[in-house]
Amino acid sequence: QPLLQCKGLRKVYPNGNVEALRGVDVEIFQGEYVAIMGTSGSGKSTLLCTLSGMDVPTSGEVLYRGKPLTQHGSLDRFRALELGFVFQSFYLLPTLTAIENVQVPMFEGPPRSSAEKHQRAHDLLERVGIGHRANHLPMRLSVGERQRVAIARSLANEPKLIFADEPTGNLDSRTTEEILAIFANLHETEGVTLVMVTHSADVAAHAERTLHFQDGQIVKEETNRT
Ligand code: ADP
Ligand code: ADP
Repeated sequence: QPLLQCKGLRKVYPNGNVEALRGVDVEIFQGEYVAIMGTSGSGKSTLLCTLSGMDVPTSGEVLYRGKPLTQHGSLDRFRALELGFVFQSFYLLPTLTAIENVQVPMFEGPPRSSAEKHQRAHDLLERVGIGHRANHLPMRLSVGERQRVAIARSLANEPKLIFADEPTGNLDSRTTEEILAIFANLHETEGVTLVMVTHSADVAAHAERTLHFQDGQIVKEETNRT
């Protein structure tokens, strides 16, 4: 059974009558690393939003472990506990240090003492290679370090599935490789399931499988050589 699945997903934005998704079928299995690749405006963000329950499709259904997303209790809680998110522009809280940012989602997770939260956040920062920057504010970090903090934060509640929306969109090529290496490591050594949206063929090539997206539809699917 796929971890996440959608069938005939359609999304029409009422304003402007844009049909952003025009019948999309996707199956993502536990432990997979999948890239969704397409040009700007092809509907990648819309797909990611509907797959993760942040937006409601006009028709079609998203199933998580074979059950509609809407039957997993509160969607907010479902997202906080089962999913992790990494964005192009990081979305770190500017007044919190790196380690405090990583702890933010833990308030929705299983009860932990503040010492446990702190230790766990520190371990997560170590896992992405910036334990030594734990007490810095985001503005004191390089963009690559900020994305590492965001990745550590996405792991706060041990999600089954991580969505990354253009995670290297604001990074130079060297930093892009570093961040992609972290994703590859999480995938290979910890079996994290990853869905990454990108407009870049080079970035998509790091995934196991690429879904090519065009005008709201999957036009091609390929297995990548790694
Ligand atoms: P991508 O992520 O591939 O750039 P999007 O999913 O953001 O594509 O957009 C797909 C299409 O839907 C575009 O034509 C975009 O302008 C339109 N669109 C996206 N979000 C909205 C919205 N909230 N309201 C109206 N149109 C939207
Ligand atoms: P990105 O591709 O970097 O994720 P976008 O520029 O596609 O971001 O969209 C940013 C936000 O604006 C999204 O929440 C999207 O739904 C919204 N949006 C995109 N296009 C439109 C549009 N034509 N009308 C209204 N909202 C839009």
